[in-house]
Amino acid sequence: MTQQIDKFQYECNDCGAAYSAENVMYLCPACQQKNTAVQPPKGVLKTIYDFKKIRKITHSQNLFKHLQRENFLSLLPINEIESLPKLYIGNTPLYKFSKIDSEELSFGLYLKDDSQNPTFSFKDRASAVVSAWAKENGIDTIIAASTGNAGSSLAGICASQCQNSVIFVPATAPLAKLTQIVMYGAKIIPVNGTYDQAFDLSVKASEIYGFYNRNTAYNPLTIEGKKTVSFELFGDLNQQIPDRVFVPVGDGVIISGVYKGFEDLLNLGIIKKMPVIVAVQAEGSCNLIKNIDQKDFKATVSDTLADSISVDIPRNYFMAVKYLKQYQGEYITVSDSEILKASVKLSASTGIFAEPAAVAAFAGMLKYKAKELIPEDSKNVVLLTGSGLKDLKSVQSIINLPEPVEPEISALENLF
Ligand SMILES: [Zn+2]
Repeated sequence: MTQQIDKFQYECNDCGAAYSAENVMYLCPACQQKNTAVQPPKGVLKTIYDFKKIRKITHSQNLFKHLQRENFLSLLPINEIESLPKLYIGNTPLYKFSKIDSEELSFGLYLKDDSQNPTFSFKDRASAVVSAWAKENGIDTIIAASTGNAGSSLAGICASQCQNSVIFVPATAPLAKLTQIVMYGAKIIPVNGTYDQAFDLSVKASEIYGFYNRNTAYNPLTIEGKKTVSFELFGDLNQQIPDRVFVPVGDGVIISGVYKGFEDLLNLGIIKKMPVIVAVQAEGSCNLIKNIDQKDFKATVSDTLADSISVDIPRNYFMAVKYLKQYQGEYITVSDSEILKASVKLSASTGIFAEPAAVAAFAGMLKYKAKELIPEDSKNVVLLTGSGLKDLKSVQSIINLPEPVEPEISALENLF
């Protein structure tokens, strides 16, 4: 282990125990003992930096600008930026749109297009940090379970870093994601079962075979990678926080990452308040929203075309719920038919073709708009977490490909 041990420590989300990163890699050992297969895991760890020390780095100059210049290394669990992959990760475009469906918007709409990451999804942010940490610690094989995106991401990132990856995915994952995993040279293990079952199998495999595990939330560094999007949003908006961020939610890790990024900025005194984060879930897989105000968690079997957020037991349930309650977050569900309609609207109005899980966040924004819940002139961000090309099958039902015409000008007669 290297000097980064001093750079941060872990704090259990549930019991608050602090751990040195030298002793613990995944869940809080105390809380983990009580975890069962039918409940979300307790003991997910939060990475805590020496914020006082970071504040002292810069005296009079703008601390955020300083952090930007060093690529936020002070707030990452790695020693060198060079340990990150060569591929361009993060710094994805933030587009402002003033119209949707030719309708002028009364508020600012910003789309953060994370399909522009190397493997075409937001998950590259997490894979990059996990891979860099592994590299600095002499680990050459990383294992993960995934609904598809995290797996294809880890496979691609490992390929770029000369590392090996072992990916567990439900055999029913979209073909594009399975294809990516194979093309990137990973060892793919399709599982006849759900994502939740693939997750548990991969954890057992990493315990038995000793591989480093990237599973979302289980590995706390995944949250550290995902939080970088909040730093970018703050930078892109000229060092202002957005009023609202719509985030698609399955396991609850992306939303926890978004919160963690803004919370780091809050801890550094760079921002004074948190934005409102809106958790958007598919109606057919809303185990986080359904349980948020319940005493006991009860999983409902998921059924949604938004495969990336189709989760029975959200792996970062307790952290996401804690954040939503602490910072007055909001939540909303959208149906599959709303997702499909929003999918067409998004593509045709903006030129961004996103996968159903990502479109869920956009559909959530549209629902807010319809209910007039978005104040005029406010800044609203929608996180678009994956490319539509990753899941063509889902939109097949709404695609209408015309019959081919003969290559003659007369064939166009009735078409215009
Ligand atoms: Zn604990």
